[in-house]
Formats: sequence, C-alpha cells, structure tokens
Amino acid sequence: PVIRRSDYRPPAWHVPEIALDFDLDPQATRVTATLSVTRNGEGPLRLDGDGLTPRSVLVDGTPHNDWRLEDGALVLDLPGDAHEITTEVVIEPQANTQLMGLYASGGNLCTQCEAEGFRRITFFPDRPDILSRYRVRMVADKARFPVLLANGDPVASGDLGDGRHWAEWSDPFPKPCYLFALVAGDLVANRAQFVTASGREVQLGIWVRAPDLAKTDHAMRALKTSMAWDERVYGREYDLDVFNIVAVDDFNFGAMENKGLNIFNSRYILADPDTATDYDYDGIAAVVAHEYFHNWSGNRVTCRDWFQLSLKEGFTVLRDQQFSGDQGSAAVKRIEDVRSLRASQFPEDAGPLAHPIRPDAYQEISNFYTATIYNKGAEVVRMIATILGPTAFRAGTDLYFSRHDGTAATCEDFVVAMEDASGVDLSAFRRWYEQAGTPRVSATLEHFPGGGRATLSLRQAVPPTPGQQTKQPMVLPLKLRLFGAETGRPLSDERLFLFDQDAATITFETVTERPVLSINRGFSAPVIVETDRTSADLAFLSAHDDDPFARYEAMQQLMLDTLVASVASGHGDHAAVIDAIANTLADDRLDRAFVAEAVLLPSDSFIGDQMGVVDPDAIFAAREALRSDIGRALLPEWRAAYAATEADAFEYTPDAKGKRRLRTVALGYIAASGASDADAIAFAQFEQADNMTDRQGALMTLVNSDSDDRIAALDIFYNRYRDNPLVLDKWFTTQALSTRADTFEQVEELAGHRDFTLTNPNRARALIGAFSMNQKAFHRADGAGYRFLADQLIALDRINPQTAAKMLPPLGRWRRFDRTRGELMRAQLDRILSVPGLSKDMLEQVGKSLS
Ligand code: ZN
Repeated sequence: PVIRRSDYRPPAWHVPEIALDFDLDPQATRVTATLSVTRNGEGPLRLDGDGLTPRSVLVDGTPHNDWRLEDGALVLDLPGDAHEITTEVVIEPQANTQLMGLYASGGNLCTQCEAEGFRRITFFPDRPDILSRYRVRMVADKARFPVLLANGDPVASGDLGDGRHWAEWSDPFPKPCYLFALVAGDLVANRAQFVTASGREVQLGIWVRAPDLAKTDHAMRALKTSMAWDERVYGREYDLDVFNIVAVDDFNFGAMENKGLNIFNSRYILADPDTATDYDYDGIAAVVAHEYFHNWSGNRVTCRDWFQLSLKEGFTVLRDQQFSGDQGSAAVKRIEDVRSLRASQFPEDAGPLAHPIRPDAYQEISNFYTATIYNKGAEVVRMIATILGPTAFRAGTDLYFSRHDGTAATCEDFVVAMEDASGVDLSAFRRWYEQAGTPRVSATLEHFPGGGRATLSLRQAVPPTPGQQTKQPMVLPLKLRLFGAETGRPLSDERLFLFDQDAATITFETVTERPVLSINRGFSAPVIVETDRTSADLAFLSAHDDDPFARYEAMQQLMLDTLVASVASGHGDHAAVIDAIANTLADDRLDRAFVAEAVLLPSDSFIGDQMGVVDPDAIFAAREALRSDIGRALLPEWRAAYAATEADAFEYTPDAKGKRRLRTVALGYIAASGASDADAIAFAQFEQADNMTDRQGALMTLVNSDSDDRIAALDIFYNRYRDNPLVLDKWFTTQALSTRADTFEQVEELAGHRDFTLTNPNRARALIGAFSMNQKAFHRADGAGYRFLADQLIALDRINPQTAAKMLPPLGRWRRFDRTRGELMRAQLDRILSVPGLSKDMLEQVGKSLS
C-alpha cells in the first residue's frame, strides 16, 4: 500500500469541533468522542481507526447501525451537509508497547499522536488538513492520577466524591489531531511565568515525578530564553495562557510539540551536573527550543499532508540551530551541525532509503522522520535565507506566517511566500524539494600570474538515487574567497556565487600572488566538494582562513586525504596533519571548543563514506595509527592542554564547556600515545570529576583499556547510577562503543543484563543502536554483529515497530562493503523479511534495503 503525494484530495468532510471524554484507566479507558462534521465534497465520512471497535455510534444523538469498518476505519454514508457523530471505544493504554496513541509510562498515562497515533485513541479523520477545536474532559482516580493535563487552557475541574476527579481543558486554536495530547499522572511542576512582548502573562510548567524536580531548571531557563528569542528574531509570540511540558521515560523520539502541552523524552528535560553531560545540556536547550518554535512553524501553520513534513521540521530545525548558535559559539554550533549532517544524512542520501526532502511516496510515514527531512530540510531553508539575505528572509517568514496562519500549508506555499516577499525567483531552487542525493561539486583554480587573474572552474553532478536516475543541476549558493599563499592575506572579498548550471567559470582579478581557494565557507551549501588543493594548501587554510568553519573544514580535509591515502597504501605520512594540529593547539586566540573540534579525527564511518568499498579493518587500523602518532608526536602539548583545561568548579558557560571538551580530546590523545600513565590520569579524572562530562569522558577512555581500571570504573559507575535510567543508558552506550577486541561479546552479554530491556526505546538505542554505530565491532568479519542486530530488531519489531525500523539502516548499507560482508548483511535482511507478521514499518525499510 503506497501513498503518493500526487494522490492528495481535499477531505469530503471537515470536523470543526470535537469534544472528547476520557474515563481514564490503564487497563480500560473509555473514550467518547463527539464530532461536528460538515460536508466539504462528495463521499462518505471516513473516520480512521487502528485497533478500535466501536461500542456505539450515534448520528445526531440517535443510535446508528449503518456503518462499516474498512481497514480499521469507521465509514458512514451520510445524507445532508452537517451532523453530530458520537462514537465510544475502550482502549488499553497499559498494553500499548508501540508508544503511539495513549500509553502508560512509569505509572502515568500520556499520548503520542504524530503522525498517526490519534486513530489508536478514537475514530477520527487522521490527516493534518482537518483542523478542529478541541474540548477535552478527563475523569480519573484521584490518588493515582492527581494531575490531569490536556492542550489549551484549563476550564474547570472537580471531585466526583468516589475517589475520582475530573478536569476539563479547551484549546481555542483549531488544530490537526496529531497535536492532540493529554497526560494523567502523579507529577509535580517547576512553575514560572513569562510575559510576552504584548504583555500576555503565560504560566509555564515543567512536569516531572517528584524526585526529578531539581533537574528541571536548565530546561526552564531554555524555555524562557526560546520564548524571548522567537519574539526578537522571528517576531513570534506565544498565544495561550499556559504552556506545559511533561517529561516521560518511555518515548519513541526526542519530544513532541502538542499545542500548549509538549511531551518530552525525559533525556531532553532532566539535567544536573552530576548526571548530564554538556552535550546533554545543549541537547535539552535545542529540543526545548525546537518544540517551542513549532508553536508557529508547525502548529499555527501546519502541514497539508505528510509529504510536507519538512515544511515544519526543516524550518524548525533551522530555527533551533540559529537559536543554539546565538547562545554560545555560532561557529562551533555550525561545525557540530555539519558533522551530524555528514554522519546521518549523507549516508542516507547515498543509500537505498534516499528520498527528497519532500518525498513523492511512502508506505509508512513514521519511516520518514529522517535526517533528510529534518537536517537536509534545515539546510534547504538555510540556503533560501542565504540567497535572500537576512532582511528579505525575515520579510518572507513574516509573510508566510501571516498568509497561512490557521491553515494547513505546503512546501510550495513556503517557497512562494519567500519569492513574493523578496522578488527573488526560486524556480530552479525548487529542485532541492524534488531531487534526492548529495550534489558533488568539483573545483579547480588556475592562476595566471602575468595578468593578475585567477579562474575557478566549477562542475556539479547529483548522483542517481532510487527512482531518480537523471538529475538536473541544483542551485548552490557557494561562498568563496581567495587567500594569498605567501602573505596569508585575503585576495578578494567573500563572494556569494549562485552555481546553478552543470559547469561554470568565475574570474578573480588582482590576484597578485599564488591564491588558495576557500570554498563553501560556512558550509553555505550541503554538498560534497572536491578540489585540487594540496596538503600544503589545506594546512595553510587551517591556519589562515578567516572563516572558522572553512578553517575546520581544511583541517578535516587534510585528515581525510591522509587517512584515505593510508588506507589505500597501508602506511601513511602523518607529518602534515601533526603540524596542522600543533599550530591549532598553539593558537591561544582560538575558542577551546573550536580547537577541540578542529583536532578531532573524522569518524571511521565518515572515512568509509569516501571510499568505493568500505574496509572497516583497514580504516580502523589507519585511524588508530594516525591517532597514536598524533598522540606521541605532540605528547607534551596534549599534557599541557590537559593541564590548562583543569577547572575549579563546574560551570555551564561556553568557556567552561570548551575547556571540558578539549580536556576529553586531550585525554584521548594521551591515551592514544600509549603513555604509561594514561590510565591513571583517566582514572583520577573519573573519580574526582564534579560533573558527568568529565566523568563520562574519562570512562570513554578507560573502556578501551586492557587494564583492570576498565572493570573497576564500570563497576563504580554502575553502582553509583544504577537507579538513574538516563545515566545507565550512558553506561550501556559507552561499552557498546568500545574499540576493544571483545566488544561484541561484551555487548551480547549486556543484552542479557537485568537492566537491559527492549521495551524502553532509550535503553534499546543505548545498547543496540550504539553498537550498530561501532564500525569495528558491528562489522566483525564473521558477521556475528549483523546476526545480533537482526535478532534484536526482530524481537523489537513485535514490541515497538517504529523504534525497530529506525535502527535498520546500518544493515541496509550492505552494498558499500566487500562481497563477504555484503552477503552476510544481506542474509540478515532476508532473514528479517522472512519473519511472519513483520510490521509495515519494518517491511518498507527492509524491502527498500534489498531492492
Ligand atoms: Zn520537530
């Protein structure tokens, strides 16, 4: 059953109002829904349902028997143009292991409806272009569920006298059902207030279980900062009197932007220095901001259909990236975002699951919450901003919000608003919405010393992807600059070149010395650039480029070239990399976080992405050889960097974070050097740390060690944090990422640990997901890693198909490996496919991976 974008038809019926009545109970929750429906076109009223049986159906208050079930949906042929439909169903939240719809987590009840979970709660046209006003009444046992929350504003509440109580909420903003939410539980709130630009007082609440209350301050600060930021930068104000966030331990993804009632995976709310790393703190601020920003980019203006998902996700990711960039170093944030784009989106774009940011077809929409829709989607909107410039881009977003407020829009609407506000023609740019695959750009610079000129020749090609054999050239905004090789000075201003043909030549005048090319500065286009720059040129740029991203990029390219060459030849010349790192370390003017990023080697998997056939053993060996050479050659420098980044007491500031980051990197290189005191330094840091960043940083080093310190540290860590599920996840992940030879056996054993369970998505990802990222262990030549992943995914598919299907892509990359590994991987895909009763989520992912 393939759903196609071209098949979109407006609905036959609208539902302007819905009243929902919940009699909440984990075993049996009765849901009564009353829908006012109005005719919009020809056809029956189709109310989607998934696993629901109607207990009763009323039409205009009268029992009605003339209905049928089609694929779980309740279908009624109705005369006339307006009716009131009432249905009653009973559902069992406690048995809901998919975590879609209404489910139980830690004794509380909560919902997740995006994309198609609402149909597991009640019969309703579950499509985002149906916008309704919601009134919600909940009844529940008062002792077990003292707190009852839903979207919008609280209206009334009371006691039933029999140990039960009730609450009523009403949301004045029409919304699609994927934004519906309720929470019932034993929760406490961190409360605060925010006064909007126009003077509205908003009551903020972050709801958690009582012992977690002390860990909510960082999230609350991030929420207030986001609210002020969106007013200042995008002119967007909050629109209800309350804004609630609830943290739950069992959650399929990061968080959800339900109107006025965001529900979060607790890992994106709870933090204190002892249990959360800087990375966690940053992630919390980013996700709190992301979900808050959805109130405009997603909720006030929503999506017409799920093919438009990037309309809200790509744009909102860009907004959260800009927000995070404004909180600390924008350059470091950009580097992190590009690193993760390359780690997750580039491989997707180069594999069997490649799709455009606006797909043409899907089988299961849950499979399309991808790095392409989110992160490449953000890059596409970022390019529009770059092409238009800040003022016109803001005019474009203002126009988009005002024109489409209260409606379900399309990606096309967004682009048209940008064109109308700016006068810029984006016709050819629209190919970014249509074509999958990462464009490749090759650049050759030629210098004509006589005439003081240089010419830059550019070519581009977009590789074929499934279903798209030939491609048109893309519009690539490329930021360019030339530097003089002798003086180190810029030879031109930064130029923004819109490269929209297969090939182009650009001329630079007054090039008075040999020029070195700085291209795709700031990563202005999400492409792969190949140049003829030498190691010396790259080392030069790593020291002289004035764009921090380009500087980082030059260093990465130098490392990549070195590693790819040594994988090919079996030995490498490491001198240029070592020199460049030494220079970067010696530059005191640089932000420590930047230095930490710049001196970090590209990951095993990114090195593999550069190769025709990935050889995980050779890559690992080449990377380790380079790492230990860097460690040995610069050991005094690493020791100095380590000593200079020692901090007094924990502070969460950009400066302190930068020092901690560099400290962990330095420790890694000290260990890589083979220094005999490395374990002792790591163990001391592990024991003395007053924060999780340093403690886990030390553990990440110790976990690769052959000494008894590894076992000791793991035991101490486990015993200290055994009651904290989020930290226990780190304990599993750190072991799954170890480079030791016995990691596979350790992981197999951990899968039988009493704290391991597939029913909690965080825990499943912490062990199984992390293991599948460990290039060395997962790609063991005997295929044991592949078989293990397949076993786990087959088991998980029965419990939670969405989470299982998300973890399949590492196996789907089989074509990239040598024949033996490829066959072993493919055999596991075949085995998964042969399992009876496989979910449609998994069927789509496996089917595409094999075809
Ligand atoms: Zn989102």
